[in-house]
Amino acid sequence: MEKKQRFSLWYFMATFLILLIIESFLSSPHSETISYSDFKRLVKAGKVVDLTIGERTITGRLKPEGLEGLLPQEKIEEIRKAGKGEHRFFTLRVDDPSLAQELEAANVRFSGRVENTWFSTLLSWILPALIFFALWAFFIKRMGAASGVMELGKNKAKVYMEKQTGVTFDDVAGIDEAKEELMEVVTFLRSPERYRRLGGKIPKGVLLVGPPGTGKTLLAKAVAGEAEVPFFSMSGSDFVEMFVGVGAARVRDLFAQAQKKAPCIIFIDELDALGKARGLNPMGGHDEREQTLNQLLVEMDGFDTNTGVIIMAATNRPEILDPALLRPGRFDRHVAIDRPDLQGREKILRVHARQIRLAPAVDLSAIAARTPGFVGADLANLVNEAALLAARKGKEAVEMTDFDEAIDRLVAGLEKKTRVMNLKEKEIVAYHEAGHALVAESRPHADRVTKVSIIPRGVAALGYTQQQPTEDRYLLTKAELLDRLDVLLGGRVAEELVFEDISTGAQNDLQRATDLARHMVMQYGMSEHLGLVTFEEPRTAAFLNMPMSPRPREYSEQTAQTIDAEIRKLLTDAHARVKETLTSKRQALEALAKLLLEREVVDRAMLKQVLAIPTAT
Ligand code: ADP
Ligand code: MG
Ligand code: ZN
Repeated sequence: MEKKQRFSLWYFMATFLILLIIESFLSSPHSETISYSDFKRLVKAGKVVDLTIGERTITGRLKPEGLEGLLPQEKIEEIRKAGKGEHRFFTLRVDDPSLAQELEAANVRFSGRVENTWFSTLLSWILPALIFFALWAFFIKRMGAASGVMELGKNKAKVYMEKQTGVTFDDVAGIDEAKEELMEVVTFLRSPERYRRLGGKIPKGVLLVGPPGTGKTLLAKAVAGEAEVPFFSMSGSDFVEMFVGVGAARVRDLFAQAQKKAPCIIFIDELDALGKARGLNPMGGHDEREQTLNQLLVEMDGFDTNTGVIIMAATNRPEILDPALLRPGRFDRHVAIDRPDLQGREKILRVHARQIRLAPAVDLSAIAARTPGFVGADLANLVNEAALLAARKGKEAVEMTDFDEAIDRLVAGLEKKTRVMNLKEKEIVAYHEAGHALVAESRPHADRVTKVSIIPRGVAALGYTQQQPTEDRYLLTKAELLDRLDVLLGGRVAEELVFEDISTGAQNDLQRATDLARHMVMQYGMSEHLGLVTFEEPRTAAFLNMPMSPRPREYSEQTAQTIDAEIRKLLTDAHARVKETLTSKRQALEALAKLLLEREVVDRAMLKQVLAIPTAT
């Protein structure tokens, strides 16, 4: 478009020039200019043979002889030359009403002429038009570059369609569970007929949930690559525009395009930007986002998976998603992608190290051990940084020292986000989690431990102990709640025992333990001293997350004191019990902590070996 404009501008210029040349030929005066007074004198002296009076000019011929004295010599020469022998002259007309009479008196043949003024007329409108056009083009270009306002009406949907993503499962490492779960989607996309014949239901929407940089986008692309189907991708934030209705139109567009290309994958990155729960914004809704979200829901409901279109989405904040998005028939399949553990990190490093030349001494497992908390994107960055450092030093291959330097650099940046722990912290977290796990395993009513990890998760949790109930429970007995209290305190007590000091890491546990104890006393009536009474706790408005107007307490100051005492008693009793348990299991505690420091993640099978360690009495 821009190029064409410039072309037509050039055409204008060329035409203009050609016209100029033609004009100069047409009106080339084969005559020489003289002044009007000279002309009048020549008329009076009877030297003019004939003339033509135009609107603004007078041209004519002079008698060749006897001009001397009336005109300067060189003027006469010029007149002769210009007229090619004939003495032609040319003068500008002056308002002179008596001219006709004088000419008649001098017996000069004269005639009028309509001058050919087409060119000047043309110029008089073409030139302004040309200038206007140039200015307009200039401003359009300016505006277009600045804001894209000129494309306002157009639905410039940023749909990225890749016929082949070129990414395969080989490029994704360290998240094998997620890969396994997505394998089903791949086989479906490869041969949808097979599933259709059997009448199987394939998930419509798969939601990838995990922290940033863990490879969600990469994994979605790999699914498309493995299945060899087109990959339509769009970011949630692309949908949300300033103008109401544009996002919804884009969603429609995206689904229409994808359905033509089925089987294929539609991938919506950063789903949270678009799928934030409606009405979550206390400042009033965001109409455009809601419309877009509604359109997405409509589209997801409106088509059948049997067409072979699978919708994938990624988010790192599943908790803020609108529940409607997670309902059956929408994004009902969730695939969790966690930060990689030690082995996972090594595998990811291996994938990225394929692209660089490594010195033989480089030990990727040692690098993995030094980078707890790093996600795939960090590791990719690390390999790249190391390669750059080596290149800067003019090395032939990337050496271990380059990796060390790169780690130091990256860690400094990541530590600010508390995603990387130093060794001392790691040790504390290891004992802390080991404490939780051992207490859980030694309590008959606690859920079994499935996994203990000291891989940091987000800002708050530095490690976690995963427990799984053996059955669905709707009621909890007092004994179960007490065991739960013990498990919550296990981490803190382990820290006390081992380091004779406690860290701030246990704060969340303590909070939860206190809440639990308070519920037991105030709501469940599980306190011996207070007995069968429940007390209202101040309610909070669930959706605003702010306390509502405080209600007057419905019990006496003395009761309040008893409540506090009862809560404290529950906690101190639990503390004593846990301390006893962990003291007797000190050996197992040490062993489990050591194992955690070594492997970062300990699963149930390994945990059982630790538990086999005899308890001291
Ligand atoms: P997310 O979408 O989860 O934020 P990305 O998929 O955009 O993360 O990951 C960014 C980059 O990090 C990828 O392009 C890849 O180079 C690297 N990466 C992340 N996770 C992995 C992984 N599991 N295996 C290999 N590379 C990974
Ligand atoms: Mg991403
Ligand atoms: Zn804890």
